Amino acid sequence: MPKPIIDEQKCTGCGTCVEICPMQVFEMDKKRKKAIVKKPNECIGCRACEVQCPAGAIKVQD
Ligand code: SF4
Ligand code: SF4
Repeated sequence: MPKPIIDEQKCTGCGTCVEICPMQVFEMDKKRKKAIVKKPNECIGCRACEVQCPAGAIKVQD
């Protein structure tokens, strides 16, 4: 099962992953201004998040 991992040190809270994930895996933690992996089991491994995160903060594990 693919699973995205967010490096919180790198995440800038830009919201790109929340917008582009076709499976709505991510959610924004508005207080902390960090993306969180809300529904890891929904991930289909498309890697759009990994490619498009401007901070390089997401890695998708196989
Ligand atoms: S796209 Fe990257 S930097 Fe932007 S909120 Fe998601 S994990 Fe954080
Ligand atoms: S790999 Fe695709 S489905 Fe999985 S979290 Fe990233 S954008 Fe969403």
